[in-house]
Amino acid sequence: MASKQVYGAGIWHFATYVDRYATDGYGEPRTILDAIDLAGKVRDLSVVDLIYPYFGGEYTNEQIDEALERNKLRVVGITPEIYTRVFAKGSFTNPDPGIRKLAHDLITEAADVVRHFGADYVKLWPGQDGWDYPFQVDHGALWKASMDGVGQLASENPDLKFVVEYKPREPRVHMSYHSCARTLLGMEKIGLPNVGILLDYGHALYGGESPADSAQLAIDYGRLFGMDVNDNYRGWDDDLVAGSLNPIELFEFFYTLRKNKWEGVWQLDQFPFREDSVAAADHAIDFLKAVDRGLDKLDCEALQKAQDQHDAIGALALAQRALFSSY
Ligand code: FE
Ligand code: FE
Repeated sequence: MASKQVYGAGIWHFATYVDRYATDGYGEPRTILDAIDLAGKVRDLSVVDLIYPYFGGEYTNEQIDEALERNKLRVVGITPEIYTRVFAKGSFTNPDPGIRKLAHDLITEAADVVRHFGADYVKLWPGQDGWDYPFQVDHGALWKASMDGVGQLASENPDLKFVVEYKPREPRVHMSYHSCARTLLGMEKIGLPNVGILLDYGHALYGGESPADSAQLAIDYGRLFGMDVNDNYRGWDDDLVAGSLNPIELFEFFYTLRKNKWEGVWQLDQFPFREDSVAAADHAIDFLKAVDRGLDKLDCEALQKAQDQHDAIGALALAQRALFSSY
């Protein structure tokens, strides 16, 4: 059996949120230190992905170190905020070269933060890179700028991994890195070994993908560097608690990871707007543990036989029995 599975979460899971309705926020603002202390209350959480710059005040890396240490947490990745107001027209694809440089400099700083914490990767989420209207952009130029921006950083920092988290839309109506296949195409063109995908299960789902298939594709190209999970109704990035809606597809996703001997953090990317964030994380991890036990229980040989025949009912019966008896 695999060694003990490590669970993680994006630190934003423990922040409070503002949307275009509750412009006063869904709770009192929290600092990154508050959020780390809350993350520390989750029973089985070992790693966090930190947003950079740190939110809620000016903090040194050493202050963050202290907070992590008292909560027994490690940093898996750093997410530079290349999607805030100044980047409203894009980070890598911004029409203003000065803003593109700003993005590049911020990510370069984030790379140093990754080195400081000995984290696994710089996470790029170019949420503002894309377009909203027909005729708004030169598609060829936009895609080239998306690849050039990532490629330049990866070649300047060969000691680090850069992961791109693709997403179909929001905040841009069309995001440049919008699907697994397109992101892989871009990465093959960039042609560097240290660029990969962070596969967000929910982004794959609402992008009309089958997350298990997307995972297999990214693995086949040697580019699945990270993943996170949550759940949604397939129309939007709802970021609900993992396992709450599509448990069997989630099971197939993790089955695919295990089948390929993919080892890494099982990470939460949830936005508990109205829920207690610690309870939401505990609940999700409890379910992920059931998934892990279900995988132990799954008769993989019989499943392979069923799949060799494309036997849907036979395969489903094996999967459902293993998962639903494991919770
Ligand atoms: Fe995510
Ligand atoms: Fe998301």
